[in-house]
Amino acid sequence: MDKLKNYMITFMRGRYGGDHLNSALIIIGFSFLIINVFLNNSALSILVNIIMLYALYRGFSKNIWARQKENMRFLEITKDLRCNFKLIKYNFTDKESKYFICPNCKQMVKVPRGKGKIEIRCPRCNTKFDRRS
Ligand SMILES: [Zn+2]
Repeated sequence: MDKLKNYMITFMRGRYGGDHLNSALIIIGFSFLIINVFLNNSALSILVNIIMLYALYRGFSKNIWARQKENMRFLEITKDLRCNFKLIKYNFTDKESKYFICPNCKQMVKVPRGKGKIEIRCPRCNTKFDRRS
């Protein structure tokens, strides 16, 4: 068992490993895989294989610079989407406060809940906007 572990450590040395883009690829790949259990579509099956192979290729890649650049680009493209998910999650879990996105600079702003209609001033860009808290 130790031999296998040492082999894996040696094998992964200098290789890229996981990042946000790879996690997303694996989640999307598995989702399609599960959907395809019901659809049994060959095109979707090929797509699942491409996504999974691409995730593997990225994980074992030794061109770390190129993989980091891809990940940065992915994070930039999905920034708004990830921000919206975070907003929904915070508003759902935090019963004391409510969270809004500044319409000007997209900064997340936290205000106390249950104060009625209030004027919010963004701490980053000083833009004022009305929301119901
Ligand atoms: Zn702002």
